[in-house]
Amino acid sequence: MDCLFCKIIAGDIPSKKAYEDNDMLAFYDIAPQAKVHILVIPKEHIPSIDGLNTDNASVVAKIFSKIPEIAREAGITNGYRIVSNCGDDACQTVKHLHFHILGGEPLSEKMA
Ligand code: AMP
Ligand code: ZN
Repeated sequence: MDCLFCKIIAGDIPSKKAYEDNDMLAFYDIAPQAKVHILVIPKEHIPSIDGLNTDNASVVAKIFSKIPEIAREAGITNGYRIVSNCGDDACQTVKHLHFHILGGEPLSEKMA
């Protein structure tokens, strides 16, 4: 499948890993939009939040239950923002579900 993040999971494209287990991978964004910018993705190819259903959504709970540890170990101590762009209006550029962890400094008050 021609998916950038599936290639990162497979190790065909290098990444700076922050966390990995059987279900998910966390790695540093190549073009950081905050002092700390990490992407967390399921290993299963799900195109976006729009592709979630009762059969595949349990990985989202797993990801969210790991995010505090990933953020802490990345040195975030004073809060962070989780973003998931879904679809064209939200400027989703990689069609593999991912959650941005943004932190390490005060963030914009704006979300959109
Ligand atoms: P989105 O725009 O929400 O789809 O987010 C995609 C993110 O993937 C962007 O923040 C990109 O900077 C990031 N990205 C693209 N290619 C790579 C890569 N090879 N390694 C790490 N992050 C990447
Ligand atoms: Zn994929």
